[in-house]
Amino acid sequence: MATNGRQRSTNWKALMDRGPLTPNELPNRGTRRSYKDRMNGMCVFNPGSRNGGSSLSGTGQTTIVYYITDHHEPEEILDKWYSVNKDKLEDFSEKAIHYRVSEYGKKFREASYEKFGPISTPGCGGANKDYRDQKCKKCGEVFTGQFAKHLPKCSGR
Ligand SMILES: [Zn+2]
Repeated sequence: MATNGRQRSTNWKALMDRGPLTPNELPNRGTRRSYKDRMNGMCVFNPGSRNGGSSLSGTGQTTIVYYITDHHEPEEILDKWYSVNKDKLEDFSEKAIHYRVSEYGKKFREASYEKFGPISTPGCGGANKDYRDQKCKKCGEVFTGQFAKHLPKCSGR
């Protein structure tokens, strides 16, 4: 395979070129991170996998995302992870997702806050936008919760 790079794997290079990737998107699918990959900063983003009984349990296995630490920004890692797990995550509150993402440290916590926050708590004053009734602009139906959940049932497409 790669004859020139004796240290960097094909998977590692793909991450550098193409951004955070799922295991199936790697050129050498099914390979595990080698020791050198780890030493070269190849990391796994998999919130909710730590501490048994996480608040994201029940998602089934979420798809993990590989990235290169100090090269990829938390925002793009988070976006990638969210986009490949969207259907699994839509049953969870933004608060639960934010809580688990925050385990990855301050940078991820801040990126997560940008994406999911500000986090409001239902029952503590202000109505949470995710739990409010909304009228669909496409079909006119009133639904409760996130638009992403209504979409599969939407008749206005
Ligand atoms: Zn609709």
